[in-house]
Amino acid sequence: MSDVRAEYEELKARGLKLDLTRGKPASAQLDLSTPMLSLPGTSYRSADGTDTRNYGGLNGLAELRALFSGFLQVPASQLIVGGNSSLALMHDAIVHCLLGVPLGAARRWADAERVAFLAPVPGYDRHFALCERFGIELIPVAMTPAGPDMDEVERLVAADPAIKGIWCVPKYSNPDGTTYSAETVARLATMTTAAPDFRIFWDNAYAIHHLFDEEAELADLLALATEAGNANRVFVFGSTSKVTLAGSGVSFFGGSPETIAWFLGYMGKGTIGADKVNQLRHVEFLRDEDGVRAHMRAHADLIRPKFETVDRILSKELSGLATWSSPLGGYFISLSVPEGTAKEVVRRAAEAGIALTPAGATHPYGKDPSDSVIRIAPTFPDTAELEAAISGLAVCVRLGAAERA
Ligand code: PMP
Repeated sequence: MSDVRAEYEELKARGLKLDLTRGKPASAQLDLSTPMLSLPGTSYRSADGTDTRNYGGLNGLAELRALFSGFLQVPASQLIVGGNSSLALMHDAIVHCLLGVPLGAARRWADAERVAFLAPVPGYDRHFALCERFGIELIPVAMTPAGPDMDEVERLVAADPAIKGIWCVPKYSNPDGTTYSAETVARLATMTTAAPDFRIFWDNAYAIHHLFDEEAELADLLALATEAGNANRVFVFGSTSKVTLAGSGVSFFGGSPETIAWFLGYMGKGTIGADKVNQLRHVEFLRDEDGVRAHMRAHADLIRPKFETVDRILSKELSGLATWSSPLGGYFISLSVPEGTAKEVVRRAAEAGIALTPAGATHPYGKDPSDSVIRIAPTFPDTAELEAAISGLAVCVRLGAAERA
């Protein structure tokens, strides 16, 4: 105990200033896409001859939709290109359901007494914040290695018509790196819901973000739901935020043909069209599916060593004391420290100059009942900073555990 306390005092004395809070790409990753900023080249015309500098084209360039159709498992004709943020599309989808009548519904969500969403935990804090902002209740459901606990999901959605949606990050999930099993996806597609306007918010943010040669496979939710007569249940989201430039990428929304018509009807009230010059820039830069794959391998080569560094230090320092995910892709590692100590670990780390995502952020309302989950975002710092931060974090975990013992 006194040893680890001394270690912690030493750590504080180092005066570190490190940030592991958000899953941001490092500058070296952004550099991979710098050539894109000199595009489009000499022509501003899209494949069908449209002058991309002008107004119009609400659903986005056909060639860009075709390029991401396979990766996002949505037919190109059922894909819309949005602005630089898929989170903005999720926000808008919720607003359209609140203020417009969702397909299959008798009334607007805003007119319902209660609207609730299932929130697989641990999950993504911005999803939860979005629901909290609109007064949508969040009901936590545990994640398993195959995705959300489907027995629980099926039980809840069958019983309660106020449950209108579920948040899903189905591949390399934020924060635990899980990919939903084929059985989980099939059950989501076919399950009976009390709400006729139940929606799966399928946030496939990490669809192509593999770290290793071994790639996780994800079943095709939209195809399975369509086959089961539940096509309108599915809202697919994705973006190139972590493919090209986090602040200047393009986002995607996909669904059934009916859903796309429904969404475009509302979207057209707010814009005459998204930034088609940026869409063309993306097509010219990424070219084709092989181009995208090669680009993502270059990202993986930059960030894989960072994930390996975290795993190596945690294995050395915390074996037997904590558990953590070893994801095959995505941007995060989920660390589970002894129950009741996560908040204190994060507070101590902050005191030592290591900023972490607040403990509890992975749960609705910021409340992790076991106070044990800490999200690690290893991509942004350089390797030396990351080593210092994770070693320091390990000291804080050991101190927390020693105090509880
Ligand atoms: N969804 C998930 C699961 C994410 O992790 C992130 C980024 N951290 C986003 C969405 C945000 O995506 P975008 O930049 O397209 O708004």
